[in-house]
Amino acid sequence: MSVVADAQSATLSAILAAVHHYWGYDELRPLQAEAIQAGLQRRDSLVVLPTGGGKSLCYQVPPALAGRTDVVVSPLISLMKDQVDGLRQCGYPAVALHSGLPAIFQREIEKEIRAGRPHLVFVAPERLLSPGFVELLERLSVRAFAIDEAHCISHWGHDFRPEYRRLAVLKQRYPKASIHAYTATATERVRQDIVAQLQLEQPTTLVGIFDRPNLIYRVIPRIDSDRQILEVIERHRGQAVIVYCITRKDTEHLATWLQAAGARAACYHAGLGAELRRTTQERFAREEIDVVVATVAFGMGIDRSDVRCVVHAALPKSLEHYQQETGRAGRDGLEAECVLFYSPADALRWEALIRRSAEDAQRSEEVIAAGLELLGHIRAYAAGLVCRHKVLSEHFGQPYEKPNCEACDVCLDEGEVDQEATVIAQKILSCVARVEQRFGVGHVVKVLTGSNDKQVRSFGHDRLSTFGLLKDLDAKKLMNLVYQLIEQGVLNRTHSDRPILKLNAASWEVMRGERHVRLVLPKQRVVKATKIQAESWEDVDRGLFESLRELRRTIAVERGVPAYIIFGDAALRDMARRRPRTPEEFLAVHGVGETKLKSFGARFLDHIKAYLGANSRQSSADSNVVGN
Ligand code: ADP
Ligand code: ZN
Repeated sequence: MSVVADAQSATLSAILAAVHHYWGYDELRPLQAEAIQAGLQRRDSLVVLPTGGGKSLCYQVPPALAGRTDVVVSPLISLMKDQVDGLRQCGYPAVALHSGLPAIFQREIEKEIRAGRPHLVFVAPERLLSPGFVELLERLSVRAFAIDEAHCISHWGHDFRPEYRRLAVLKQRYPKASIHAYTATATERVRQDIVAQLQLEQPTTLVGIFDRPNLIYRVIPRIDSDRQILEVIERHRGQAVIVYCITRKDTEHLATWLQAAGARAACYHAGLGAELRRTTQERFAREEIDVVVATVAFGMGIDRSDVRCVVHAALPKSLEHYQQETGRAGRDGLEAECVLFYSPADALRWEALIRRSAEDAQRSEEVIAAGLELLGHIRAYAAGLVCRHKVLSEHFGQPYEKPNCEACDVCLDEGEVDQEATVIAQKILSCVARVEQRFGVGHVVKVLTGSNDKQVRSFGHDRLSTFGLLKDLDAKKLMNLVYQLIEQGVLNRTHSDRPILKLNAASWEVMRGERHVRLVLPKQRVVKATKIQAESWEDVDRGLFESLRELRRTIAVERGVPAYIIFGDAALRDMARRRPRTPEEFLAVHGVGETKLKSFGARFLDHIKAYLGANSRQSSADSNVVGN
């Protein structure tokens, strides 16, 4: 690849040529061109793009075009290693310097850096300011720094890292170098903090669109979570899925249950040993397991871009958390599903936790109020019936204009609103009245379903007129409906240790028929197919795609690298769509650059040829049978 003589005036076509040469991509994503130009012209910049928006490319292209060596600060060794491995497979020279490296490798790498060979040097923030490295940088007269995950510098962010604070001296120490900050964190406060801390000078600020049109959002009432989650996983058999649970115990239980049901699943949480955590991450990266059942501890080190589904077994604490965790789905731009299993009981549980932890830490009313406000937003998201894309976009300060996203349960009209809702609500509420507002949800449900229960009998509640009044409903389903009434404010639940159901003014309005309620039933139907799914599979030979995935896995094992580093799913789908026969045709596949053509072209072309040969024989044999 030729270096552009006057890098400052690199045209779009020079940028595209570089992008095609190394990565085999034909277009730039939104704001990538602008971010790359800022890097080439060495203007300080702050680039805010959603996860999967393609931030890395923005700092990878400029040094390659300008023929220089830039430095990237990155918070996690595992992330650095994956990026460097991925870049090398594309023929792009890059190195990482971190504390996990044996001394001799370290010296080798430093030699390479001195010779000016790599375009990018990845370092951890603590390393950047160590005396040896400072000396190295001064000799190189580094022209630009990229700060990845820049929100780590702000304690207003969700992932503050004290080491990042030390980056504040960069600007003074290297006044001639430009600084380029990258983050997916959208809040204004964090943005301002990044600019101030890094002392960016009149930075070019680029903020992308946060909506992720390839994500299909669904909120489903949680009735029988194990079984419901299995159903989702079966829709994604053989694909990468992350399931988030709130407690460690939940992850262990669910992983075991899913394994017994035949899924290739493992659990992951901060209480497991470092070694076990590492191997689980690695097995997931190498496609040896499909499903990771995890607490929020899992995620940041995950570079697998083909995660096809993120499930939340329960409500997360805030929309910020939800956005970040679902952001790990579909980073390759292909369709992916995000399912949130919601019970209004989750919100009550978080509420109690927020109050308790604030009391324990003797925090102010303000902290509790802030926590409850964040909770309120996600609660409204889950309980409401407004387009999910719209709610998320607007929450992050961006209007959403499409009247129908065609990629959420609301717009696809999958929810089943019970026609009898008000009648059911009246029955539930009158049962609360009959038991004299002295019992909790569990007891009321037992009475309504006519349960043969000792406690129910001992209070004589089996003789109430409401006993067995809703016996056609499953107890778990009914429990969910009761919580929906609490959520809508037509029933109260006390905050005591043994919460009790109480009626309020709204309850009486419902019972008198002056007020209507809406109850959403868990979907009985099969989920609907979406446009985004149909489009990304258009003309793809699915059998060929699966067999290409096998080949990719074999090569990944041979080379000891994660499978996605060989080719992403987007590339394999395009191969199974175009079915290339020559090296030229292979180069036209999305995600195939010069180096990958050389490394893998022959093998993939042979495989495609063999597959098509065998399968056309197969189909002509089939048609013969039909012909007979
Ligand atoms: P981010 O860091 O913003 O979350 P990445 O830089 O990891 O996102 O990019 C996500 C995925 O998108 C990667 O697999 C990357 O190679 C791919 N990608 C980036 N830019 C483009 C592009 N212009 N065309 C196609 N794929 C791209
Ligand atoms: Zn929608």
